[in-house]
This record gives sequence, structure tokens and C-alpha cells, in this order.
Amino acid sequence: MALFSNIKFDRTARAFLLTELLTGFWLTLKYFFKRPVTINYPYEKGPLSPRFRGEHALRRYPSGEERCIACKLCESICPAQAITIEAETRADGSRRTTHYDIDMVKCIYCGFCQEACPVDAIVEGPNFEYATETREELLYNKEKLLANGDRWEPALAANLELDKEYR
Ligand code: SF4
Ligand code: SF4
Repeated sequence: MALFSNIKFDRTARAFLLTELLTGFWLTLKYFFKRPVTINYPYEKGPLSPRFRGEHALRRYPSGEERCIACKLCESICPAQAITIEAETRADGSRRTTHYDIDMVKCIYCGFCQEACPVDAIVEGPNFEYATETREELLYNKEKLLANGDRWEPALAANLELDKEYR
């Protein structure tokens, strides 16, 4: 009973002395002069690791030739079975894909495709801003993936370079 009275007294005292309000004001004042921890996205963006696993891209060599040799290791290792590849042998004897599709809805962004690729052709880049309004827009084909590679190549190459000693 005495304990209950004490608690009640404490609450009443705090209500009259406005301690909670003053504590709140103090906390606001304390953080008012500190550097903000939030950023004004999308105008400001936070740093990304070179290992960030974002939107996929197919890379080319500096000559413009596709890196992918259609070995299908990425297709085999993909745990979500999100990759579908069809291939052919070209007139010069090189093996290249005719179709390279990724169902980005199935993808779990594990990065196994990138790890399995012997020629750094398929990679997950730094782009995370590719939200769409329909599911169909997330069915990526070879043209889309190569266009991503062309668009992001400087960042992709820089990230691979930074991470190369750990691979
Ligand atoms: S990141 Fe993983 S789930 Fe996505 S396509 Fe590559 S291997 Fe498949
Ligand atoms: S992207 Fe790499 S792992 Fe996949 S088929 Fe092409 S060369 Fe092989």
C-alpha cells in the first residue's frame, strides 16, 4: 500500500514540476547542435560498400566485346533459379549468349552469380533505385543487362578493383 502511494506521489510530482517536458526540451537542445545523423534522400545519398549487391549488369571488355562466354555457371549456381541463358557458337568459334534473362523478382541478391562468373561478366552494381510499377519491368533481358553494364561500368570496375585482393 505504501509503495502504491509512493508511485502515485512520484507521478503527481512529475506532472506538476513538468520534468518530462523539460527532459524532452533538454534532449532536443542537446541534439540541435549536433551533426544530423539523417540525410536528405534522394538529394543526398549515404556511402555504399564496394560489395554492395544492387541491380545486375552484364559487362563488356574495353573493345566493346561482351565478357560473357555463356558458360552457364551463374545459371547453375543461382539458388533462386532466376537466371535463364541460351547460347550459340559464333562463326569465329566463340561462344556467346543469345538470351540472358534474370527474373529480378525471384532474385534474392545473394551474389552467387557474380562470384561464380570466371570473367567478371555478370555483376551486381551499386544501383538500388530501380523500383518499377509492374512485375514485367523486372524481367531483365540481355539488352537491359548490357545497357546497365554500359551505364555503370566506371563504378563497377572501381568496385571490382577495390575488392580484388579478397576474391
Ligand atoms: S544474386 Fe543470387 S539469386 Fe540473384 S540472380 Fe544472382 S545467384 Fe541468382
Ligand atoms: S555471366 Fe559469367 S558465369 Fe554467367 S554464363 Fe556468362 S561467363 Fe558464365
